[in-house]
Amino acid sequence: MKLFVYNTLTRKKELFVPLMEDPDYTWPKKDFVGLYSCWPTVYRDPTIGNFRATFTADLIRNTLKLLEYTVKSVMNITDVGHLVSDADEGEDKLEKWSKREGISAWEVAKKYEDVFKEGMRLLHIDEFDSMPRATENIPEQIALVKTLEEKWYTYTVPGDGIYMDTSKVEDYGELMWPNYKKRLADLNAGERVNMWGKKNPTDFALRKFSPENEQRQMERDSPRWKWFPGWHIECSAMSSKYLGNQFDIHHGGADHITIHHPNEIAQSECWFDVHPRVKYWIHNEFLQVDGGRMWKSLGNAHTLQDIQNKWFSVLDLRYFYFMAQYGNFQNFTWDQLEAAKNTRHTLIKKLQWKRIMKDKKDFESDPIFQQAIEALCDDMNTPKLLAVIQSALTMWWENVFAIITWLENNLLKLWLFDAIIEENVDIPAEVSLLADQRVQAKKDKNYTLADELRNKIVTLWFQLKDTKDGYEITKA
Ligand code: AMP
Ligand code: ZN
Repeated sequence: MKLFVYNTLTRKKELFVPLMEDPDYTWPKKDFVGLYSCWPTVYRDPTIGNFRATFTADLIRNTLKLLEYTVKSVMNITDVGHLVSDADEGEDKLEKWSKREGISAWEVAKKYEDVFKEGMRLLHIDEFDSMPRATENIPEQIALVKTLEEKWYTYTVPGDGIYMDTSKVEDYGELMWPNYKKRLADLNAGERVNMWGKKNPTDFALRKFSPENEQRQMERDSPRWKWFPGWHIECSAMSSKYLGNQFDIHHGGADHITIHHPNEIAQSECWFDVHPRVKYWIHNEFLQVDGGRMWKSLGNAHTLQDIQNKWFSVLDLRYFYFMAQYGNFQNFTWDQLEAAKNTRHTLIKKLQWKRIMKDKKDFESDPIFQQAIEALCDDMNTPKLLAVIQSALTMWWENVFAIITWLENNLLKLWLFDAIIEENVDIPAEVSLLADQRVQAKKDKNYTLADELRNKIVTLWFQLKDTKDGYEITKA
């Protein structure tokens, strides 16, 4: 079956033809589909919005694998140089949080990288094939800027940084809007305030010089100036290092359509003289809360810990993500999460003891399987996929369970067959055992394991409360 994806670059749902099957692709032959996804900066607790983006990257990867493509997936770790504003202004996020938390910028990055990876694990998102850190790819970024300088695409704003002159870039802004040429011309003709020495409003920093009289923790010594890399440059450097000058899919959140990704395109295409550098741009829309934006100040920028504190399993959130198509806004409310949990639990009840492992060839011609794959091939339409599963469960055929088992193992990963629900038993031994193991884990200060055990207890429909003497378990 053929995959169709919505490509932000062409603004159309398109047939997916990877470069390795594309007759117009003239570079050395590829034997994989390359997928690159932008990671949030590791400077604070990731929100359930950030994880919607990670979930989408994983969904793309898993869909490609289900369709039997060999995938090479890369997700970068931004651990330096991302300023508070995407438009090259404000403080470096890591330096700012370092002051706030009283630990070094390096420690901030390490701490929140670990938090993010732990969140991925709880959400059953496997690590990507490569997860390179910006700080470990500085020579590649230096080389890129040097080439752009040699090609006369850059200029220096004294005391500020080295900038890319976007007026010299053909098709700059193509990703942003359908009528980008006119909109950019209007922008350039408009009031040119707050340019801070830039030649064009859309020009962006490739390197920023450290502020005078201030020793930044992560700055570099260069022959000319102390500096730190612009945020956009790292993605161009790392994607080309791992996936080549041209690759198949670049994913990120919809906020990147107007600044970060056009800048990545500009740098990379001028560097390699290639167009399009990426064949398919896929963007997930934002997760909203109570119909509006997530804001830390409103207290609605929920984290996975908040989800667990309200006795939800992180896998209920995973089910919730599947309930919306990635390209649409999704609205988070606690009631919606409750609904996701209830539906997931109903599925678990229906599927108990019905795990049937079969070879794919034994069911791939089944209409239910065809419909499930068709839903995924329709721009990864996960709500449609869930509807196929729900309607299949009105039939009690062996193949229905074999297909759901296969989908669970390869894509859903919702522990649909692992949770056991025993009616009329006060506290099953399994739950008591998990609770005891959790006490031990806490004694050992292994809080990761303790959280994981509590998560398991929640998926078994029990709640665990810490008390002075140990714990108390109640039915959820
Ligand atoms: P931040 O660290 O808040 O700048 O977010 C990092 C990235 O995560 C953003 O650039 C988005 O691509 C993604 N992201 C942030 N918030 C959301 C959200 N509410 N929904 C979906 N993706 C988000
Ligand atoms: Zn990026």
